[in-house]
Amino acid sequence: MSSDRTPLIAGNWKMHKSIAEAEEFIAALLPRVSDAEGVEVGICPPFLALQAMVHSTRGSRVQVFAQTMHQADHGAFTGEVAASMLTEIDVHGVILGHSERRELFGETDRALALKVPAALAAGLTPILCVGETEDERERGDTQRKLRHQVQEDLARLPDDRLGDVVIAYEPIWAIGTGQVATPEQAQEAIAFVRALVADRSREQAGRVRVLYGGSVKPDNAAELLALPDVDGALVGGASLDAASFAAIVAAAR
Ligand code: PEP
Repeated sequence: MSSDRTPLIAGNWKMHKSIAEAEEFIAALLPRVSDAEGVEVGICPPFLALQAMVHSTRGSRVQVFAQTMHQADHGAFTGEVAASMLTEIDVHGVILGHSERRELFGETDRALALKVPAALAAGLTPILCVGETEDERERGDTQRKLRHQVQEDLARLPDDRLGDVVIAYEPIWAIGTGQVATPEQAQEAIAFVRALVADRSREQAGRVRVLYGGSVKPDNAAELLALPDVDGALVGGASLDAASFAAIVAAAR
């Protein structure tokens, strides 16, 4: 991790936890992360628990992120939520382009190119997820895939806003599988993502935070977080338990 960039540890709850379970979790988490100086901590609950979590984390170091949003301000988009609806309840940011949204719900790079600037314009911090499938890695197409996603998804963002985005490198074969990228694989891919940002602005490449995601657990977090280009982690399964999530936060200090 670079000392110039504040690490972010964000927990993606996916479709887990009722409001009551979320309250129980946050009551257990807050005392465990209260002394995590120099680390930003985020939780990404389902939509229905967002407002309760914003309320319960007020005054703490824990930020609340949504898991997706629509690019339009409003309109006939049944089931969708706009950026302004998230900021109205003081949500801090939003995950965009998670591989589950891309694969299961058809989220496209074209939509993401609109979502990233829409999130920033509303005052949300986007966490843009990118990453290759197992097939793509085996074919030697990892860099091609990352180049495509980073270039397309950030295409409509002015250069001077690039550093305001958080990018999560999440190799799809490592998500929810227990199969974690090696430190070499993670560092190489994340340095490549940063170099893609540098192609547009060297200054912003020094600012942009790039997280690793994919089977991060308390016992592998420290090694991954110590890598020079890794600025934190997006955590799925291990973020559902307050003690294990807090242990990952502690590894970032
Ligand atoms: C994720 O869903 O973003 C993720 C990284 O999940 P897990 O940590 O469970 O692999």
